[in-house]
Amino acid sequence: MRLNDKYRPGKFKDIVGQEMVSEILKKQVISNKLAQAYLFEGRAGSGKTTSARILAKAINCTSPINGEPCGHCDSCSAIQDGTSPDVIEIDAASNGGVDNIRAIKENMMYSPSISKYKVYIIDECHMLTTSASNAFLKILEEPPKYGKFILCTTDADKMLITILSRCQKYKFKNISVNDIKKQLMLISKSEGYMPDTLDNIVDIISKVSKGAMRDAVSILEQLISSNITSLKEVISILGISSNARIFKLLGNLNRRDSASSMETFFKALEDGTDETKFCTGLIDALRALLIIKSGASTNLIEMSKKDIFGLTKFSELIETKEIIGLLEIFQDAFNNLKNAMSKNLIIEIAIMKAIEFMKSQNKNCITENISNETKEIKKTETKKETKDNSLTEEEINALKMKKLTKTIKERQLVLENKVRNVADKKEGRAKDAYSKLADAIKSSGFTKQQNSDVIVIIAHTSFKDILEKAISNKSLNKMINDCFIIDGINYTVKLD
Ligand SMILES: [Zn+2]
Repeated sequence: MRLNDKYRPGKFKDIVGQEMVSEILKKQVISNKLAQAYLFEGRAGSGKTTSARILAKAINCTSPINGEPCGHCDSCSAIQDGTSPDVIEIDAASNGGVDNIRAIKENMMYSPSISKYKVYIIDECHMLTTSASNAFLKILEEPPKYGKFILCTTDADKMLITILSRCQKYKFKNISVNDIKKQLMLISKSEGYMPDTLDNIVDIISKVSKGAMRDAVSILEQLISSNITSLKEVISILGISSNARIFKLLGNLNRRDSASSMETFFKALEDGTDETKFCTGLIDALRALLIIKSGASTNLIEMSKKDIFGLTKFSELIETKEIIGLLEIFQDAFNNLKNAMSKNLIIEIAIMKAIEFMKSQNKNCITENISNETKEIKKTETKKETKDNSLTEEEINALKMKKLTKTIKERQLVLENKVRNVADKKEGRAKDAYSKLADAIKSSGFTKQQNSDVIVIIAHTSFKDILEKAISNKSLNKMINDCFIIDGINYTVKLD
């Protein structure tokens, strides 16, 4: 049995992500105030047909419980098995001709044989031909009392207004990444599929299935049946890019590092990522950054909580206008991908354009946003002022500078110690490299740039060389990247 069938909800309460619709439908069943026709609109895989079947069961159930079908009576069992003569499903995509609708009209003349209502569930209802739509409208205009229609569609705009106006409409939301993730975890566990990478795998599936539970479960089934457990294989099968690669590229772009940016893209291709999916992944991440920057609710972002957390941290390092610029560049690239001879070339050009654009945004060298410190100083300043009005402006400025210098020195010491601690645990050349770096940090000056909220490193002459060597060393690279945001020839201290 396919997982989608095995785990298909049989009750309203088991439908994931459509709680509002389920509640209203249950109330209608309880009060027996049913509409003649329902329209369920939403993305494929969002639960429309499943809800339609549950509704058909609930209204025909001989002993419903709080608006839910009992699942055991003759009617429930027959509908569940797909053998009920009174609940008929039609796919308008393949059976949407006028003859199919005429058959419905004929069949509607006979009252239901085992149930209270005769229910037609019409999938992809917008695919009915024009003459079929008109014939169907006739049925809706004079339906028998026992006749009910549940129309499901992904595109209600393509339907006749006269049909729409006869339906009670329900909009099915895209199911959130977290809801999909929860369900996939549940299924994985009950199927005994528990690789160490499960959390990451489920994360990726939830993201690529874009609000469609059915797609998500199908992908999971594919992995389970082939016993695929490595993240790399999953990424390759799906042709997608892991968020880790996308986030890495964003970091590299923000550092104006063209070589690393290109390498990140090449690595994604090696993973088996498809260029179009890589591009949409990048656009999704940039859009998420914009939402975070705007201060709007992160519920609008279709990503896992972990990824949203990572992007929120990153959003502090990049300017809104830079995000918008990057979005424009990659949106253009996306539009060009369709007709491109060489898709990777389009992305490569976009990456280089993005680097040029970021460079033109002349972020002032070694920058670190220290607005927090400034805020804190302002707070102290206000306190002082209320306590003692006699402080002159000069004294306040001196106080500000003193506090700031102290903060910078503290941070410098933390960084130096951080590197030195690692040096202590290393041996040979690595130990030497770390120690040199710690020395360089110690002997560098960190100061506030005039009239702006940035910290500048007055690097001692060998600082740059040492840092560059450290970056090219594989084992040091991660450590350095944790400490610095390297931006062309400039360095930002990354401390938290
Ligand atoms: Zn029942």
